[in-house]
Amino acid sequence: MAVHAGLLRMSTEGDGAVVDLTEGVRSVLARSGLQVGVATVFVTGSTAAVTTMEHEPGGVADLRRLLERLVPRDEDWEHNVRNHDTNAHAHLRASIVGPSVAVSFARGQLALGTWQQVVLLDFDDRPRDRVVSVHCIGE
Ligand code: ZN
Repeated sequence: MAVHAGLLRMSTEGDGAVVDLTEGVRSVLARSGLQVGVATVFVTGSTAAVTTMEHEPGGVADLRRLLERLVPRDEDWEHNVRNHDTNAHAHLRASIVGPSVAVSFARGQLALGTWQQVVLLDFDDRPRDRVVSVHCIGE
């Protein structure tokens, strides 16, 4: 059993930005030399999330629309009222989507579907620099 770690760094525009991380995760896995195991992908920060989706413009627009419906930006959120902040919706959306995914791999290949990409969702209401940790655990 071995662990190989890598960091992916990126700048985003925030405000629902979606960044495809798949190639970055693949490159960490390739450098690890591991053949079978699991790759964990975790974003640091309470206003961003990691998930998988079909990364195409329609899917991105639909996901943004769904999250706006579930967690409207313009509501009297306590986080904003108590902290004189403006990004309560970003914290809430990040919590419901979650900060990480685990993707299994075999024969050195991620077990993703053809139309399944690992994506970062940046919900903050301003541009952000993000760091995503990738850990490949296996043999
Ligand atoms: Zn905040």
